[in-house]
Amino acid sequence: MPHTAPIAVAAPAPVLPVRWQPDRTMPSPKWPLPGMPQALLRGFKGACPSCGKSHIFNGYLRVVKECTNCGAPLGSIRADDVPPYATIFVVGHIVVPLMLVLEKTEAPPLWVHTVLWVPLTLVLTLGLLRPIKGAVVGLMFQLGMLGAQPESLGGDA
Ligand SMILES: [Zn+2]
Repeated sequence: MPHTAPIAVAAPAPVLPVRWQPDRTMPSPKWPLPGMPQALLRGFKGACPSCGKSHIFNGYLRVVKECTNCGAPLGSIRADDVPPYATIFVVGHIVVPLMLVLEKTEAPPLWVHTVLWVPLTLVLTLGLLRPIKGAVVGLMFQLGMLGAQPESLGGDA
């Protein structure tokens, strides 16, 4: 019976779990990033929320693709239904209480209500929709909510 020496086998090196670490270094954008109140105010005034030196709209509600001054990609911000929703909210809270107060105090005929509230509602809605959309774009810009480019979504705004 030949004697067999035990073969020394090196134990495999323990495999330590490699924990994935996210890249926490944020690349600084090429455009200025103001604070939230300033971005909201600039957007409300219809100016670029980033630099405040160019227009945010090139139509009534169409947002420019890029700021002509600082190059901020404003066209990639998808405000969607937030501006109309906020406008309805604001205008409703102005018109409905006035309507109720008038009805409670004076109880005018129906045509008076129609003549008063329909034009007021139209003027307020059309007047506030654009500044509110600008403020929403400013809000989304400040929060870094730059979506996909409009071309990839098939949109034109
Ligand atoms: Zn700009």
